Amino acid sequence: MIELLAGWGRFPRAPSELLRPARPADVPGLLAAGGQAIARGSARAYGDPAIGIDASLHTAALDRLISFDTATGRLHAEAGLRLIDLIPLVLPHGWFPPVVPGTRYPSLGGMIAADIHGKNHHRDGGFGAHVEAMRLLTASGEILDLTLASDPDLWRATIGGMGLTGIILSATIRMHKVETGLIRQTTVVAPNLADAITALDAADSAHYSVAWIDCSAKDASLGRSLVFVGEHATAAEAGAQAAASLRPQTKPPITFPIEAPGFALNRFTIAAFNHLYFSRGAKKAGAPFLVDHVPYFFPLDAIAEWNRVYGARGFVQHQCVLPPDTAPQALAAMMTEISARGLASPLAVLKKLGPGTGMLSFPMSGYTLALDFAIRDDLFAFLARLDAIVAEAGGRIYLAKDSCQPRALFEAGYPELDAFRAVRQRIDPARKFASHQSRRLGL
Ligand SMILES: Cc1cc2nc3c(=O)[nH]c(=O)nc-3n(C[C@H](O)[C@H](O)[C@H](O)COP(=O)(O)OP(=O)(O)OC[C@H]3O[C@@H](n4cnc5c(N)ncnc54)[C@H](O)[C@@H]3O)c2cc1C
Repeated sequence: MIELLAGWGRFPRAPSELLRPARPADVPGLLAAGGQAIARGSARAYGDPAIGIDASLHTAALDRLISFDTATGRLHAEAGLRLIDLIPLVLPHGWFPPVVPGTRYPSLGGMIAADIHGKNHHRDGGFGAHVEAMRLLTASGEILDLTLASDPDLWRATIGGMGLTGIILSATIRMHKVETGLIRQTTVVAPNLADAITALDAADSAHYSVAWIDCSAKDASLGRSLVFVGEHATAAEAGAQAAASLRPQTKPPITFPIEAPGFALNRFTIAAFNHLYFSRGAKKAGAPFLVDHVPYFFPLDAIAEWNRVYGARGFVQHQCVLPPDTAPQALAAMMTEISARGLASPLAVLKKLGPGTGMLSFPMSGYTLALDFAIRDDLFAFLARLDAIVAEAGGRIYLAKDSCQPRALFEAGYPELDAFRAVRQRIDPARKFASHQSRRLGL
């Protein structure tokens, strides 16, 4: 059936036939019948990478656990398995996913295809660094058991390759050993941007770190932030809570009730939210405390369909990464642009990243800033100013968040693009796999 599909940002939308295989064996036949297609996991990427030109292959039913070795933490599962279903399988045995994003809904295939980064990228790399093997259906209909050793170029094109090398049917991933499901969190207040960068640098040896920036702050407080540093709590620290914490919370989320009208997010409501969030968070600064992994890693999951808060036109997340030497100046320039526009981003996250794994992996050593903006008539001209700062600083935009970056910025930002195109030419010369994003960016 043809449906109007979108990503998490609800922009852009495009018609595509939604193919729904019930098992991996259905996939080749479904794909052979259609035209240009792309895999679609949980559609948590923001823009158009999971919208196929003719068809989108939804992996939701391909979510079986194939094996899990409780002694080694090695998990083999179908690619549609979502984190929210995976964590309860592994945590009771003392294992945790090696890398998690800011939501529990993404699928294994989506996390590999975007080579997602977590709050531990500076220490552990992206999700792709923890994958041992993949079963990949290619454009010729061949199913490959792919490892780094079997075909290094195809491996590095598939990790972070946004589904353009084929359909990942299953994958084997190494989990991380933990003693509890709790995180020992320390909150650091950074009065301005320079202090936020210093606090992230000081947390280099910490397992997890992330900064939430109050984008409404100006002048001497420009870039003021709360930096959340985290470590997996030991059983000794957790005491009586240790055993129960290994059983993940099952509290259902509250659903955002309405599609918010366009005026609901304005400079006053956003500034009030940012002020409140900053002052409440700052009160917890100082001594470490224990918190369940769900609110630490996935705070936004508490409200289902929160993407409707940005109104019917949808929203764009602008996420860039900037090299360490240009980042302080470029971040300040972006913050200044945002505060001059008056309409801040209610969600602004700064993280430190290390080098990436795949040819199109987003991470590179530096600092990544993610900002959400509701779509308004003036938004695209404003984003072009942010893009110009990113380009000047030698940065790049994250494909999993992108819905409108200029092709020139994409081409300048990804130095291994030619190598990626060469693999694609070899593996899929007729471009069986194509998304609206890949066509927009000339991938
Ligand atoms: C609230 C929120 C917080 C987030 N936080 C982070 C974060 O902290 N770090 C981060 O890196 N990302 C983050 N993301 C982005 C998200 O993790 C990625 O977009 C991820 O790719 C989503 O997985 P998905 O299963 O929803 O994939 P989709 O959105 O459905 O697809 C994304 C891409 O993966 C490809 N793909 C999906 N399944 C397969 C498959 N089986 N085989 C081949 N290709 C496949 C698709 O073709 C597409 O190109 C966040 C997103 C949200 C909504």
